[in-house]
Amino acid sequence: MDKIKMTTPLVEMDGDEMTRILWQMIKDELLLPFIDLKTEYYDLGLEYRNETNDQVTHDSAEATLKYGVAVKCATITPNAERMGEYDLKEMWKSPNGTIRARLDGTVFRAPIVVKGIDPMVKCWQGPVTIARHAYGDIYKNAEMKIGGPGKAELVYTALDGTETRALIHEFDGPGILQGVHNTEKSIRSFAKACFNYAIDTKQDLWFGTKDTISKKYDHTFKDIFQEIFDDEYKDKFDEAGISYFYTLIDDAVARVMRDKGGFIWACKNYDGDVMSDMVSSAFGSLAMMTSVLVSPAGVYEYEAAHGTVQRHYYQHLKGLETSTNSVATIFAWSGALRKRGELDGLTDLVNFADKLENATLATIESGRMTKDLGLITTLEDVKVLSSKEFILAIRERL
Ligand code: NAP
Ligand code: MG
Repeated sequence: MDKIKMTTPLVEMDGDEMTRILWQMIKDELLLPFIDLKTEYYDLGLEYRNETNDQVTHDSAEATLKYGVAVKCATITPNAERMGEYDLKEMWKSPNGTIRARLDGTVFRAPIVVKGIDPMVKCWQGPVTIARHAYGDIYKNAEMKIGGPGKAELVYTALDGTETRALIHEFDGPGILQGVHNTEKSIRSFAKACFNYAIDTKQDLWFGTKDTISKKYDHTFKDIFQEIFDDEYKDKFDEAGISYFYTLIDDAVARVMRDKGGFIWACKNYDGDVMSDMVSSAFGSLAMMTSVLVSPAGVYEYEAAHGTVQRHYYQHLKGLETSTNSVATIFAWSGALRKRGELDGLTDLVNFADKLENATLATIESGRMTKDLGLITTLEDVKVLSSKEFILAIRERL
Protein backbone atom coordinates (compact mmCIF):
# COMPACT_ATOMS: atom_id res chain seq x y z
CA MET A 1 0.00 0.00 0.00
CA ASP A 2 1.30 3.46 -0.89
CA LYS A 3 1.57 5.79 2.04
CA ILE A 4 -0.61 8.91 2.09
CA LYS A 5 1.35 11.95 0.95
CA MET A 6 1.60 15.31 2.71
CA THR A 7 2.75 18.56 1.11
CA THR A 8 3.20 20.94 4.07
CA PRO A 9 4.71 19.88 7.41
CA LEU A 10 2.72 19.89 10.62
CA VAL A 11 4.38 21.64 13.54
CA GLU A 12 4.94 18.80 16.00
CA MET A 13 5.38 19.79 19.65
CA ASP A 14 6.50 16.81 21.72
CA GLY A 15 5.92 16.81 25.47
CA ASP A 16 6.45 15.10 28.80
CA GLU A 17 5.93 11.99 30.91
CA MET A 18 3.17 9.49 30.07
CA THR A 19 1.83 11.54 27.18
CA ARG A 20 5.32 11.57 25.62
CA ILE A 21 5.26 7.75 25.75
CA LEU A 22 1.78 7.68 24.16
CA TRP A 23 2.92 10.22 21.54
CA GLN A 24 5.63 7.86 20.25
CA MET A 25 3.30 4.84 20.28
CA ILE A 26 0.66 6.76 18.30
CA LYS A 27 3.24 7.79 15.72
CA ASP A 28 4.74 4.29 15.44
CA GLU A 29 1.50 2.32 15.32
CA LEU A 30 -1.19 4.61 13.96
CA LEU A 31 0.51 7.22 11.76
CA LEU A 32 3.88 6.19 10.30
CA PRO A 33 2.61 2.88 8.79
CA PHE A 34 -0.04 4.78 6.80
CA ILE A 35 1.22 8.31 6.17
CA ASP A 36 4.39 9.72 4.69
CA LEU A 37 4.39 11.94 7.77
CA LYS A 38 5.92 15.38 7.35
CA THR A 39 6.50 17.33 10.54
CA GLU A 40 8.76 20.07 11.78
CA TYR A 41 9.70 18.71 15.20
CA TYR A 42 10.01 20.79 18.38
CA ASP A 43 10.89 19.04 21.61
CA LEU A 44 8.89 20.80 24.34
CA GLY A 45 9.88 18.16 26.88
CA LEU A 46 10.98 19.94 30.05
CA GLU A 47 14.61 18.86 29.75
CA TYR A 48 15.04 20.47 26.35
CA ARG A 49 13.05 23.56 27.34
CA ASN A 50 15.50 23.96 30.21
CA GLU A 51 18.48 23.38 27.95
CA THR A 52 17.33 26.07 25.48
CA ASN A 53 16.15 28.53 28.16
CA ASP A 54 12.64 27.91 26.82
CA GLN A 55 13.59 29.25 23.37
CA VAL A 56 12.21 26.06 21.81
CA THR A 57 8.70 26.95 23.01
CA HIS A 58 8.90 30.39 21.42
CA ASP A 59 10.29 28.87 18.21
CA SER A 60 7.45 26.35 18.05
CA ALA A 61 4.89 29.17 18.32
CA GLU A 62 6.61 31.07 15.50
CA ALA A 63 6.63 27.92 13.36
CA THR A 64 2.89 27.54 13.98
CA LEU A 65 2.33 31.06 12.63
CA LYS A 66 4.46 30.14 9.61
CA TYR A 67 2.90 26.77 8.70
CA GLY A 68 -0.62 27.23 10.07
CA VAL A 69 -1.24 23.90 11.83
CA ALA A 70 0.38 22.44 14.95
CA VAL A 71 -0.18 19.38 17.12
CA LYS A 72 0.94 19.51 20.75
CA CYS A 73 1.61 16.85 23.38
CA ALA A 74 0.86 17.65 27.03
CA THR A 75 3.76 19.31 28.84
CA ILE A 76 4.83 19.91 32.43
CA THR A 77 4.27 23.37 33.82
CA PRO A 78 7.09 23.56 36.37
CA ASN A 79 6.39 24.21 40.04
CA ALA A 80 8.71 24.10 43.05
CA GLU A 81 8.77 20.28 43.04
CA ARG A 82 9.77 20.09 39.39
CA MET A 83 12.66 22.50 39.99
CA GLY A 84 14.44 19.78 41.94
CA GLU A 85 13.17 16.82 39.92
CA TYR A 86 14.54 18.26 36.64
CA ASP A 87 17.31 20.43 38.07
CA LEU A 88 15.85 23.50 36.34
CA LYS A 89 17.67 26.79 35.80
CA GLU A 90 14.40 28.67 36.21
CA MET A 91 10.74 27.94 36.88
CA TRP A 92 9.85 28.11 33.16
CA LYS A 93 6.41 29.39 32.25
CA SER A 94 3.58 27.18 31.08
CA PRO A 95 4.23 26.33 27.40
CA ASN A 96 0.51 26.56 26.73
CA GLY A 97 0.48 30.04 28.23
CA THR A 98 3.45 31.11 26.08
CA ILE A 99 1.99 29.65 22.89
CA ARG A 100 -1.48 31.08 23.52
CA ALA A 101 -0.07 34.49 24.34
CA ARG A 102 1.78 34.47 20.97
CA LEU A 103 -1.07 33.08 18.85
CA ASP A 104 -3.97 34.74 20.72
CA GLY A 105 -7.37 33.30 19.93
CA THR A 106 -9.93 30.93 21.34
CA VAL A 107 -9.67 27.32 22.51
CA PHE A 108 -12.62 25.12 21.56
CA ARG A 109 -13.04 22.02 23.71
CA ALA A 110 -15.70 19.47 22.81
CA PRO A 111 -16.41 16.11 24.46
CA ILE A 112 -15.78 13.01 22.37
CA VAL A 113 -19.13 11.27 22.60
CA VAL A 114 -19.16 7.48 22.36
CA LYS A 115 -21.76 4.77 22.92
CA GLY A 116 -21.41 3.16 26.33
CA ILE A 117 -19.98 6.21 28.07
CA ASP A 118 -22.99 8.20 29.24
CA PRO A 119 -22.74 11.73 30.62
CA MET A 120 -22.97 12.00 34.39
CA VAL A 121 -25.48 14.81 33.87
CA LYS A 122 -28.52 12.83 32.82
CA CYS A 123 -30.25 15.62 30.89
CA TRP A 124 -27.32 16.20 28.52
CA GLN A 125 -28.26 14.67 25.18
CA GLY A 126 -25.73 16.59 23.08
CA PRO A 127 -22.16 17.77 23.69
CA VAL A 128 -21.38 20.97 25.55
CA THR A 129 -18.53 22.69 23.71
CA ILE A 130 -16.45 25.15 25.72
CA ALA A 131 -15.00 28.13 23.82
CA ARG A 132 -12.23 29.43 26.05
CA HIS A 133 -10.69 32.85 25.47
CA ALA A 134 -6.97 32.08 25.30
CA TYR A 135 -5.46 35.48 26.06
CA GLY A 136 -4.90 37.56 29.18
CA ASP A 137 -6.63 37.85 32.58
CA ILE A 138 -4.80 35.90 35.31
CA TYR A 139 -2.71 34.04 32.71
CA LYS A 140 -0.85 37.27 31.90
CA ASN A 141 -0.90 38.86 35.34
CA ALA A 142 1.45 40.77 37.61
CA GLU A 143 1.35 39.76 41.26
CA MET A 144 2.80 41.05 44.49
CA LYS A 145 2.93 39.99 48.09
CA ILE A 146 2.51 43.01 50.31
CA GLY A 147 4.60 42.97 53.43
CA GLY A 148 2.71 45.49 55.54
CA PRO A 149 0.55 48.61 55.72
CA GLY A 150 0.43 50.94 52.66
CA LYS A 151 -1.66 52.08 49.75
CA ALA A 152 -2.12 50.10 46.52
CA GLU A 153 -3.24 51.91 43.37
CA LEU A 154 -3.82 51.13 39.71
CA VAL A 155 -1.84 53.58 37.56
CA TYR A 156 -2.22 53.96 33.81
CA THR A 157 0.28 56.27 32.09
CA ALA A 158 -0.80 57.41 28.62
CA LEU A 159 1.81 58.01 25.90
CA ASP A 160 1.69 61.78 26.63
CA GLY A 161 2.51 61.10 30.27
CA THR A 162 -0.94 61.74 31.74
CA GLU A 163 -1.75 59.44 34.63
CA THR A 164 -5.07 57.91 35.60
CA ARG A 165 -5.25 56.36 39.06
CA ALA A 166 -7.69 54.19 40.97
CA LEU A 167 -7.32 53.17 44.59
CA ILE A 168 -7.22 49.40 45.02
CA HIS A 169 -6.86 49.14 48.78
CA GLU A 170 -5.36 50.81 51.85
CA PHE A 171 -3.58 47.91 53.51
CA ASP A 172 -3.30 47.94 57.30
CA GLY A 173 -1.25 44.75 57.29
CA PRO A 174 0.27 42.13 54.94
CA GLY A 175 -1.73 41.02 51.92
CA ILE A 176 -1.67 40.13 48.25
CA LEU A 177 -2.18 42.04 45.00
CA GLN A 178 -2.82 41.08 41.38
CA GLY A 179 -3.01 43.14 38.19
CA VAL A 180 -4.71 41.66 35.13
CA HIS A 181 -5.50 42.99 31.69
CA ASN A 182 -7.06 42.24 28.37
CA THR A 183 -7.15 44.07 25.06
CA GLU A 184 -10.12 45.16 23.00
CA LYS A 185 -8.51 43.57 19.97
CA SER A 186 -8.25 40.16 21.62
CA ILE A 187 -11.80 40.29 22.99
CA ARG A 188 -13.09 41.19 19.51
CA SER A 189 -11.31 38.25 17.92
CA PHE A 190 -12.60 35.99 20.72
CA ALA A 191 -16.16 37.11 19.98
CA LYS A 192 -15.79 36.61 16.24
CA ALA A 193 -14.20 33.17 16.65
CA CYS A 194 -17.17 32.12 18.81
CA PHE A 195 -19.83 33.50 16.45
CA ASN A 196 -18.12 31.89 13.42
CA TYR A 197 -17.77 28.54 15.19
CA ALA A 198 -21.46 28.65 16.18
CA ILE A 199 -22.46 29.21 12.56
CA ASP A 200 -20.04 26.54 11.26
CA THR A 201 -21.38 23.93 13.68
CA LYS A 202 -25.01 25.21 13.75
CA GLN A 203 -25.16 25.39 17.53
CA ASP A 204 -26.49 28.07 19.88
CA LEU A 205 -23.89 30.24 21.59
CA TRP A 206 -23.99 31.09 25.30
CA PHE A 207 -21.73 33.58 27.02
CA GLY A 208 -21.46 34.50 30.69
CA THR A 209 -19.29 36.89 32.74
CA LYS A 210 -19.56 38.59 36.13
CA ASP A 211 -20.53 41.98 34.69
CA THR A 212 -22.64 42.97 37.72
CA ILE A 213 -19.58 42.92 39.99
CA SER A 214 -16.92 43.84 37.43
CA LYS A 215 -18.64 46.83 35.86
CA LYS A 216 -15.76 47.86 33.60
CA TYR A 217 -13.66 44.72 33.02
CA ASP A 218 -16.27 41.99 32.54
CA HIS A 219 -18.85 44.46 31.28
CA THR A 220 -16.55 45.29 28.36
CA PHE A 221 -16.60 41.62 27.31
CA LYS A 222 -20.39 41.65 27.42
CA ASP A 223 -20.66 44.92 25.46
CA ILE A 224 -18.20 43.90 22.75
CA PHE A 225 -19.95 40.56 22.18
CA GLN A 226 -23.33 42.29 21.92
CA GLU A 227 -22.06 44.99 19.56
CA ILE A 228 -20.40 42.50 17.20
CA PHE A 229 -23.44 40.24 17.31
CA ASP A 230 -25.86 43.07 16.46
CA ASP A 231 -23.64 44.53 13.73
CA GLU A 232 -22.35 41.43 11.99
CA TYR A 233 -23.98 38.19 13.06
CA LYS A 234 -27.64 38.64 13.96
CA ASP A 235 -28.91 37.95 10.43
CA LYS A 236 -26.57 35.00 9.94
CA PHE A 237 -27.74 33.48 13.22
CA ASP A 238 -31.39 33.92 12.19
CA GLU A 239 -30.63 32.24 8.87
CA ALA A 240 -28.89 29.31 10.60
CA GLY A 241 -31.76 29.02 13.10
CA ILE A 242 -29.47 29.47 16.10
CA SER A 243 -29.37 32.01 18.91
CA TYR A 244 -26.92 34.03 21.00
CA PHE A 245 -27.67 34.12 24.72
CA TYR A 246 -25.88 36.20 27.34
CA THR A 247 -26.32 35.70 31.09
CA LEU A 248 -24.33 36.04 34.31
CA ILE A 249 -21.65 33.35 34.68
CA ASP A 250 -23.27 31.83 37.80
CA ASP A 251 -26.66 31.72 36.09
CA ALA A 252 -24.98 30.10 33.06
CA VAL A 253 -23.49 27.39 35.30
CA ALA A 254 -26.89 26.64 36.83
CA ARG A 255 -28.60 26.52 33.42
CA VAL A 256 -25.93 24.32 31.83
CA MET A 257 -26.65 21.64 34.44
CA ARG A 258 -30.35 21.62 33.54
CA ASP A 259 -30.07 21.99 29.76
CA LYS A 260 -30.11 19.22 27.15
CA GLY A 261 -26.69 20.23 25.75
CA GLY A 262 -25.77 20.66 22.10
CA PHE A 263 -24.52 24.25 22.39
CA ILE A 264 -21.30 26.26 22.66
CA TRP A 265 -20.47 27.92 25.96
CA ALA A 266 -18.09 30.85 25.55
CA CYS A 267 -16.01 31.45 28.68
CA LYS A 268 -13.40 33.94 29.76
CA ASN A 269 -9.92 32.42 30.12
CA TYR A 270 -10.15 31.23 33.74
CA ASP A 271 -13.81 30.17 33.55
CA GLY A 272 -12.96 28.13 30.46
CA ASP A 273 -10.01 26.46 32.17
CA VAL A 274 -12.15 25.35 35.09
CA MET A 275 -15.41 24.60 33.27
CA SER A 276 -13.78 22.51 30.55
CA ASP A 277 -12.43 20.14 33.20
CA MET A 278 -15.89 19.95 34.76
CA VAL A 279 -17.63 19.35 31.45
CA SER A 280 -15.11 16.75 30.24
CA SER A 281 -15.24 14.87 33.53
CA ALA A 282 -19.04 14.91 33.42
CA PHE A 283 -18.88 13.49 29.90
CA GLY A 284 -16.71 10.63 31.12
CA SER A 285 -13.02 11.44 31.24
CA LEU A 286 -10.51 14.22 30.73
CA ALA A 287 -9.12 12.03 27.99
CA MET A 288 -12.42 12.13 26.07
CA MET A 289 -12.22 15.74 24.97
CA THR A 290 -10.82 17.48 21.90
CA SER A 291 -9.06 20.82 22.18
CA VAL A 292 -8.08 23.22 19.41
CA LEU A 293 -6.76 26.77 19.56
CA VAL A 294 -8.09 28.89 16.69
CA SER A 295 -6.10 32.10 16.29
CA PRO A 296 -7.31 35.28 14.60
CA ALA A 297 -4.49 34.86 12.06
CA GLY A 298 -6.22 31.65 10.98
CA VAL A 299 -3.75 29.19 12.50
CA TYR A 300 -4.71 26.07 14.45
CA GLU A 301 -3.06 24.26 17.33
CA TYR A 302 -4.49 20.87 18.32
CA GLU A 303 -3.80 19.31 21.72
CA ALA A 304 -5.24 17.08 24.43
CA ALA A 305 -6.98 18.93 27.25
CA HIS A 306 -5.47 16.76 30.03
CA GLY A 307 -2.00 16.86 31.54
CA THR A 308 1.01 14.55 31.32
CA VAL A 309 -0.61 11.90 33.60
CA GLN A 310 2.31 11.93 36.02
CA ARG A 311 1.05 9.15 38.29
CA HIS A 312 0.86 6.68 35.39
CA TYR A 313 4.33 7.73 34.21
CA TYR A 314 5.90 6.88 37.56
CA GLN A 315 4.25 3.45 37.34
CA HIS A 316 5.65 3.09 33.83
CA LEU A 317 9.14 4.00 35.08
CA LYS A 318 8.86 1.26 37.69
CA GLY A 319 8.19 -1.18 34.87
CA LEU A 320 4.52 -1.57 35.79
CA GLU A 321 1.74 -1.88 33.20
CA THR A 322 -0.27 1.32 32.60
CA SER A 323 -3.72 1.80 31.15
CA THR A 324 -3.61 5.41 30.04
CA ASN A 325 -6.28 6.71 27.69
CA SER A 326 -4.76 7.99 24.43
CA VAL A 327 -8.01 9.12 22.77
CA ALA A 328 -7.53 12.88 23.26
CA THR A 329 -3.95 12.67 21.95
CA ILE A 330 -5.07 10.59 18.94
CA PHE A 331 -7.80 13.16 18.22
CA ALA A 332 -5.23 15.96 18.46
CA TRP A 333 -3.30 14.23 15.65
CA SER A 334 -6.41 13.46 13.59
CA GLY A 335 -7.66 17.03 13.99
CA ALA A 336 -4.33 18.46 12.85
CA LEU A 337 -4.02 16.03 9.93
CA ARG A 338 -7.59 16.75 8.80
CA LYS A 339 -7.01 20.51 8.92
CA ARG A 340 -3.69 20.12 7.03
CA GLY A 341 -5.52 18.00 4.45
CA GLU A 342 -8.30 20.58 4.07
CA LEU A 343 -5.85 23.46 3.68
CA ASP A 344 -3.68 21.58 1.17
CA GLY A 345 -6.55 19.91 -0.71
CA LEU A 346 -5.44 16.37 0.25
CA THR A 347 -8.60 14.26 0.32
CA ASP A 348 -6.72 11.10 1.31
CA LEU A 349 -5.34 12.80 4.39
CA VAL A 350 -8.80 14.09 5.40
CA ASN A 351 -10.26 10.61 4.91
CA PHE A 352 -7.47 9.07 6.97
CA ALA A 353 -8.25 11.42 9.86
CA ASP A 354 -11.91 10.33 9.73
CA LYS A 355 -10.92 6.65 9.63
CA LEU A 356 -8.53 7.02 12.55
CA GLU A 357 -11.24 8.64 14.69
CA ASN A 358 -13.85 6.07 13.66
CA ALA A 359 -11.48 3.19 14.41
CA THR A 360 -10.78 4.69 17.85
CA LEU A 361 -14.47 5.08 18.72
CA ALA A 362 -15.40 1.68 17.29
CA THR A 363 -12.70 0.03 19.41
CA ILE A 364 -14.25 1.51 22.56
CA GLU A 365 -17.78 0.63 21.42
CA SER A 366 -16.63 -2.97 20.89
CA GLY A 367 -15.85 -3.07 24.62
CA ARG A 368 -12.07 -2.67 24.39
CA MET A 369 -10.93 0.36 26.34
CA THR A 370 -8.58 1.78 28.95
CA LYS A 371 -9.21 1.55 32.68
CA ASP A 372 -10.62 5.08 33.14
CA LEU A 373 -13.45 4.22 30.73
CA GLY A 374 -13.79 0.63 31.95
CA LEU A 375 -14.76 2.01 35.37
CA ILE A 376 -17.68 4.06 34.06
CA THR A 377 -18.94 2.32 30.94
CA THR A 378 -22.49 0.96 30.68
CA LEU A 379 -21.30 -1.68 28.19
CA GLU A 380 -21.08 -5.31 29.27
CA ASP A 381 -18.26 -7.74 28.41
CA VAL A 382 -15.62 -5.06 28.72
CA LYS A 383 -11.94 -5.82 28.24
CA VAL A 384 -9.64 -3.32 29.94
CA LEU A 385 -6.45 -2.92 27.93
CA SER A 386 -3.02 -1.53 28.69
CA SER A 387 -1.87 1.73 27.08
CA LYS A 388 -0.11 -0.18 24.33
CA GLU A 389 -2.78 -2.86 23.80
CA PHE A 390 -5.43 -0.18 23.31
CA ILE A 391 -3.39 1.52 20.58
CA LEU A 392 -2.70 -1.85 18.94
CA ALA A 393 -6.43 -2.67 19.02
CA ILE A 394 -7.12 0.59 17.18
CA ARG A 395 -4.41 -0.24 14.64
CA GLU A 396 -5.96 -3.63 13.97
CA ARG A 397 -9.28 -1.98 13.18
CA LEU A 398 -7.64 0.80 11.16
P1 NAP B 1 -3.31 15.10 34.57
O1 NAP B 1 -2.09 14.73 33.87
O2 NAP B 1 -4.43 15.62 33.72
O3 NAP B 1 -3.82 13.83 35.40
C1 NAP B 1 -4.67 13.92 36.52
C2 NAP B 1 -5.36 12.58 36.73
O4 NAP B 1 -6.43 12.48 35.77
C3 NAP B 1 -4.49 11.38 36.44
O5 NAP B 1 -3.71 11.04 37.57
C4 NAP B 1 -5.49 10.33 36.04
O6 NAP B 1 -6.21 9.83 37.16
C5 NAP B 1 -6.47 11.17 35.24
N1 NAP B 1 -6.11 11.26 33.81
C6 NAP B 1 -5.74 12.38 33.11
N2 NAP B 1 -5.50 12.07 31.82
C7 NAP B 1 -5.71 10.74 31.71
C8 NAP B 1 -5.60 9.82 30.62
N3 NAP B 1 -5.22 10.24 29.40
N4 NAP B 1 -5.89 8.53 30.85
C9 NAP B 1 -6.26 8.09 32.07
N5 NAP B 1 -6.39 8.91 33.13
C10 NAP B 1 -6.11 10.23 32.96
O7 NAP B 1 -3.00 16.20 35.67
P2 NAP B 1 -1.83 16.25 36.78
O8 NAP B 1 -1.36 14.89 37.11
O9 NAP B 1 -2.38 17.15 37.80
O10 NAP B 1 -0.67 17.03 36.05
C11 NAP B 1 0.48 16.38 35.54
C12 NAP B 1 1.29 17.41 34.78
O11 NAP B 1 0.56 17.83 33.63
C13 NAP B 1 1.64 18.65 35.57
O12 NAP B 1 3.03 18.84 35.55
C14 NAP B 1 0.94 19.79 34.83
O13 NAP B 1 1.74 20.94 34.79
C15 NAP B 1 0.74 19.22 33.46
N6 NAP B 1 -0.46 19.72 32.72
C16 NAP B 1 -0.29 19.97 31.40
C17 NAP B 1 -1.36 20.35 30.61
C18 NAP B 1 -1.12 20.57 29.14
O14 NAP B 1 -0.01 20.55 28.68
N7 NAP B 1 -2.17 20.78 28.37
C19 NAP B 1 -2.62 20.48 31.18
C20 NAP B 1 -2.78 20.20 32.55
C21 NAP B 1 -1.68 19.80 33.31
P3 NAP B 1 -5.75 8.53 38.01
O15 NAP B 1 -4.42 8.87 38.59
O16 NAP B 1 -6.85 8.43 39.00
O17 NAP B 1 -5.68 7.37 37.07
MG1 MG C 1 -6.91 23.26 33.19
